[in-house]
Amino acid sequence: MDKLSIVVPCYNEEECVELFYQTASEILKSMPVEPEFLFVDDGSSDGTCAILRRLAKNDTRVRYISFSRNFGKEAALYAGLCGATGDLVAVMDADLQDPPELLLEMYRGIREEQYDCVGCRRSTRKNEPKIRSLFSKFFYKLINSMTDTKIVDGARDFRMMTRQMVDAVLSLRETERFSKELFSWVGFKTKWLEYENIERAKGSTKWSFKKLARYAVGGIESASCAPLKVNLLFCVLCFLVCVGFVIADIVIAAAAGSVSWLFILLPVLFLLAAMLFFGLYMQGEYVKKIFYQVRGRPMFIVKEDEKSVR
Ligand code: UDP
Ligand code: MG
Repeated sequence: MDKLSIVVPCYNEEECVELFYQTASEILKSMPVEPEFLFVDDGSSDGTCAILRRLAKNDTRVRYISFSRNFGKEAALYAGLCGATGDLVAVMDADLQDPPELLLEMYRGIREEQYDCVGCRRSTRKNEPKIRSLFSKFFYKLINSMTDTKIVDGARDFRMMTRQMVDAVLSLRETERFSKELFSWVGFKTKWLEYENIERAKGSTKWSFKKLARYAVGGIESASCAPLKVNLLFCVLCFLVCVGFVIADIVIAAAAGSVSWLFILLPVLFLLAAMLFFGLYMQGEYVKKIFYQVRGRPMFIVKEDEKSVR
């Protein structure tokens, strides 16, 4: 029988965590798996850890890790994936916004349809503040235009993966993690399940607008070096303005016989600016190479070889 690890990052989820445990346990009873819960308490300041302690005491399938402070959901996810021992690993939020009923369908997707991963995406953003949906949509458009790997709009972190895919994700050792991109970068065959947005069972979202904005900017910075190209854009713009001024100067000189010193100085200044931006762009190209080298992602990930069939 497959062992299924359920990784649950929790930050101040005292109102949800037990409800989550009960609901998921009920669903897991109908599944042909040996479950393992791995809760990661991300430095909660409420009673979350005490509840986890009690759950672990009463149920040997429950494991937990408690951080010394709030390190953020990405760190909690990574710790959870590192600690999970299952043949299959599911990642879920504690607030029941990721419906545990889908676990069975995810399991089937992997074991019957031979997918490596079954992820979930929200087909609607009902019950979410309009401004947040708008920013979200813009964010996915922007990040997808900057990266080679596609990040599905509305994709949640809620997904079930094979051990092979989890190990691939863990082989990416970078500390500035943006999991949505990592899951996509490692490749493998992913099936997407869609469902309508569900409101969290209890409590309120742990993401302030500021935290979310930082997460979005951090995500772009971790996933792509495209913003460095802005220097090239400025270089071209400055050069075009310089050329414009030179042409204007020639026309003025032909018409009036002379050009004021200011009009001679302007194209020189724009040419200088263009040269500086070009220098910055070139530096950026080397920074990009250092970034990729330091990040140390593998050059490829093998899914299968002859040992898999022998
Ligand atoms: N979470 C976490 N650390 C944080 C923020 C959130 O571990 O710093 C957890 C949180 O407890 C929940 C999941 O990440 O299980 C998603 O958070 P939330 O439901 O607040 O986000 P939303 O669904 O509003 O995007
Ligand atoms: Mg939530």
